[in-house]
Amino acid sequence: MFVSRITTVQAIVLRASPWREKDRLLVLLTKERGKIFALAQGAQVPQNRLAPATQTGTLATFWLARAREFDRVTDYRIEQVLTRIRHDIFALTAFGIASELIELSIPLETTDDELFKEVLWFVMRLEEGVPPIKWLVALQIRLLWRLGWMPHLLSCALCGAELDKEQIAFAPSVGGTICGRCQISRAPADAQFFPSASLQAIYSLWQQPRLIETLHLRLNLWRQTLTLLRNHWHYHIEAESKAWRVWQQIISAHIPSPSNRRS
Ligand SMILES: [Zn+2]
Repeated sequence: MFVSRITTVQAIVLRASPWREKDRLLVLLTKERGKIFALAQGAQVPQNRLAPATQTGTLATFWLARAREFDRVTDYRIEQVLTRIRHDIFALTAFGIASELIELSIPLETTDDELFKEVLWFVMRLEEGVPPIKWLVALQIRLLWRLGWMPHLLSCALCGAELDKEQIAFAPSVGGTICGRCQISRAPADAQFFPSASLQAIYSLWQQPRLIETLHLRLNLWRQTLTLLRNHWHYHIEAESKAWRVWQQIISAHIPSPSNRRS
């Protein structure tokens, strides 16, 4: 006889998608088991008792039964529902980009208590109202660092020379920033120039994520930090975040700027 095994997990619902006719498939980041998938049967039906907890951006404890394909949600206790992402399109899209990057890069069923704690910390800061663009820069560089993909930002990835120009080349294929001399000798095809202020901002946020509350930079420089990080992720995960495209559309629609024509 098959005896189902129940596990309890503290989780952030990274994504909740329709599955078959009435179910929802959840991507959860959990404290106990890392990233997992879980099926909430019937949760697309509004009156279903699982419906309230099985939405993107819910923090909850879930009781899961092991099943052949995906674990099934049997019960839950909601800890917090993120409300900001339900009415702020920038916050929602930033959360969407972060969720997709986690989904694409973190291996399944790999417990990482520190990662969970940090993502939870970030999620709470977003809920409290920090600017989504800074939040997204800080979270991404912390994730890249945790994954072992931390790029060089202040010195040449190839020779270690300090970089003191205002515009600095960044090439994901060589591991980050690259000095003028190495750029001539190696000429990486993916090198792009970024303002040194953008690179320094990323470095500061990596060192002290709390600076998302106070670090100031012109909007155009923040946008360049996002482009740099996107290039770096793209090199490592070889996939494009769908939410990233949405981000570019909404930022172009909301903030007119000459550089929009290129993005
Ligand atoms: Zn060099």
